[in-house]
Amino acid sequence: MSAELRVDLDQFRTNVRAVRRRMAPAEVLVVIKDDAYAQGVEPIVGAALEAGAMWFGGIDIPSAVRAKRVAGDRARVFCWMTVSEDEARTAIAEGLELGVGDAAYLERIAAVGGTATVHLKIDTGLHRNGVRPEQWRAFCARAAELEAEGRIRVAGVWSHIAEASDRDDDIARAQFDAAVGEAWAAGLAPEIRHLAASAAAWHRPEFRYELVRIGAFCYGVRSADGPDIPGIAPISSLVARVSAVGDDVTIDLGSVDGYPSALAGRARVATPAGARALLRVDPFSSRVEAWEGAAVGDEVTLFGPGSHGEPTPTDLGEALDTVGEEPLLRVSPLVTRVYTG
Ligand SMILES: *Cc1c(COP(=O)(O)O)cnc(C)c1O
Repeated sequence: MSAELRVDLDQFRTNVRAVRRRMAPAEVLVVIKDDAYAQGVEPIVGAALEAGAMWFGGIDIPSAVRAKRVAGDRARVFCWMTVSEDEARTAIAEGLELGVGDAAYLERIAAVGGTATVHLKIDTGLHRNGVRPEQWRAFCARAAELEAEGRIRVAGVWSHIAEASDRDDDIARAQFDAAVGEAWAAGLAPEIRHLAASAAAWHRPEFRYELVRIGAFCYGVRSADGPDIPGIAPISSLVARVSAVGDDVTIDLGSVDGYPSALAGRARVATPAGARALLRVDPFSSRVEAWEGAAVGDEVTLFGPGSHGEPTPTDLGEALDTVGEEPLLRVSPLVTRVYTG
């Protein structure tokens, strides 16, 4: 016996539809980084297409390539990690669009051959990646030359913001607008502007432009310490089975499930008798506060939508002082994925 991750594709489609309705007329890029937050790229992309998604994007090229192979011509796929020339060649051959946030990378992509579709990234203060404002004008001028030579096509300008304070985000947005203006002045025609992720895009319409990049809310993950988002819910449940019954109930998490041991003593789980404390987590068996009539094979839900007293991924993230994506991403590839809907 081992744990299972049950992914409810119906709920995922419901979330994507709710996000798309909210963002319209802006389009939604469904973020599929890290194997769609460990939920599985292929079923997730298939379900998102059914819910009308026309854009996907991720950090890593392998997840993006897999998304493009499912979507074909039905969606555009954007990839924003700065990669080697070989990986860029693969990405371009697969029809991916590339985020470009430094001048040397722009040259590498232009040297690959073929016409790469790129989105230029301005650093609006996060300092993660992106061209600094003082270098932006020269960067755009070089991009315009490469575009004139047919080596790239500039489809968009983008950036990423902290979403920690409205004031900082407003400053970033002003820098972003200025950068877009300079791109046009350099002779580029970036028709797609994208700046916001889940929280800013949901709450602040002026951040939506033509496209928003949404990860968390598509998967039903609310922001840590943030409000519930009406109409969306977590899409998956991590379920283990009771493997032995003693004074405490022992549950089997599978041998390598990745569930954070730091949650022992801090999290509750859903059992057939209601919520119980999770007492201990170790690689081969974990312990839960006992309940009357517990039997081997009973299901215990470690996270899920919250409808049976189990914590949501964000509840667990908050218990660990991190974000709700992390408990999802920690679920080991060795845990069986089961898709419904
Ligand atoms: C992960 C990521 C997103 C999605 O963020 P959410 O807050 O989960 O919607 C958007 N843009 C970039 C650049 C990212 O890395």
